Amino acid sequence: MSVAINDERTLLLIKPDGVLRGLCGRIIARLEDAGLAVVGLKMVQVGKEQAQRHYMDDPQWVANLGHKTLRTYAKHGRDPVAELGTDDPATIGGYIRGWLIDYITSGPTVACVLQGAHAVELVRKLSGDTMPIDAAPGTIRGDFSSVSAIAANTLHTAVKNVVHSSSDVDEARREIAEWFSPAEICVHRPVSWSAIY
Ligand code: GDP
Ligand code: MG
Repeated sequence: MSVAINDERTLLLIKPDGVLRGLCGRIIARLEDAGLAVVGLKMVQVGKEQAQRHYMDDPQWVANLGHKTLRTYAKHGRDPVAELGTDDPATIGGYIRGWLIDYITSGPTVACVLQGAHAVELVRKLSGDTMPIDAAPGTIRGDFSSVSAIAANTLHTAVKNVVHSSSDVDEARREIAEWFSPAEICVHRPVSWSAIY
């Protein structure tokens, strides 16, 4: 029995800052260079409802966003109550979710489905850390973004970090189904795979 080891899929979004800055070609080239197959690709002007589905109103996810911000404030010795008016993770996460919806609807987004062995983990690695300051050089966020969470929060915007990528296999499955119909996924075998696999 043969087991497909290269059938894992993930979603990468080039957020509006990446599209408007003309980074799509260079970002997609990095994914292809790593041996991933681009099996779905389109440009979308995201509306509010689609944005609300992508950035789900899930209390756990929203609170995690708030906790992430609180860790950033602690790291920089800053007072969230003074700057954001609260230190409640759910409230702060709710602000960030609102800013994310404004961000993803602010211009065109390019959505890609990528396939290959360990595609989810590989695309997260190529994307780099959420925060540009912590993203390693050589990663998409490390090379193409620079805003800090503190600066973004002060400006009441999401951290503009160029790309979104699914964080685990379950999130990837949900997000691919949300962004692409089955007919929009083109199953194929890149020529490079005969050398890779
Ligand atoms: P990701 O999976 O690496 O994109 O990170 P998360 O799922 O935790 O966060 C989703 C997005 O929210 C990030 O990509 C950023 O655009 C934004 N974001 C995360 N943390 C913060 C924050 O502390 N402040 C602001 N303004 N935006 C944030
Ligand atoms: Mg995430």
